[in-house]
Amino acid sequence: MKFAVLTLFPEMLDVFWSTGIIRRAVSSGLISGDSVYIRNFASDRHKTCDDRPYGGGCGMVMKPEPLARALMDTKERIPGALTVLMSPQGKPFDQKTAEKMASLESLIIVCGRYEGIDERFVSDYVDEEISIGDYVLSGGEIGAMAVIDSISRLIPGVLGGGIESAELDTFSTGLIEHAHYTRPEIFEGQKVPDVLLSGNHKEIDKWRLESSLKRTFLKRPDLLENRTFTADEKAVFKKWREELKRLVSV
Ligand code: SAM
Repeated sequence: MKFAVLTLFPEMLDVFWSTGIIRRAVSSGLISGDSVYIRNFASDRHKTCDDRPYGGGCGMVMKPEPLARALMDTKERIPGALTVLMSPQGKPFDQKTAEKMASLESLIIVCGRYEGIDERFVSDYVDEEISIGDYVLSGGEIGAMAVIDSISRLIPGVLGGGIESAELDTFSTGLIEHAHYTRPEIFEGQKVPDVLLSGNHKEIDKWRLESSLKRTFLKRPDLLENRTFTADEKAVFKKWREELKRLVSV
């Protein structure tokens, strides 16, 4: 199985590829491991890979263009590979998922840093988001290593003793975080939502709460169970109810 990891810190993986079971699996050709340095795909003099978030707020957001270029380049080498993003907002990674992924020929893992990744890259280039647990790490590399390790152990021959021997900021509010956007304003035809460019912080906060509730509802509805909703959250649900009523009646 071929693994490629898109990262801003390839050195974190150097020891991983060259240690223990993974090293043996690489040298016996059962797996291959490629660390792809995202900064090599930045186009400006300073090799910029992050920028300030549209709509304001703290932290930086990873720009979509270097990521898109790094991914396209990797896909030329391993066409057809599934692309997964390490994210605390993703589907919890478990043994069942590892078993399913172990039957793939190739896997590309994208590692986020800072506040996360521009949403347009996520929606256009990522097949699946996976989380290694309900806690927030500083980057995706540790999770990528956990995922690769658990999958590799399930590949026949990797453990030596046979396959039998191989027999989880967003959660601080209890919700998944809202979508992020940074420069450019238009990326591959997709525009940043107008409200984030408006400078109207009350409206931006409202948009973010709604985005957050929507994402939580779609991705982790279990987080909404037994939640005591605030008046603002209830107002969002009321708005959705009215929109749904209108849709159903047409
Ligand atoms: N602001 C983001 C949020 O609240 O959802 C968290 C960003 S985190 C500081 C930076 C990167 O670390 C993420 O883009 C992701 O790639 C990785 N990461 C953090 N926690 C993770 C987890 N539990 N599972 C997988 N990846 C994680």
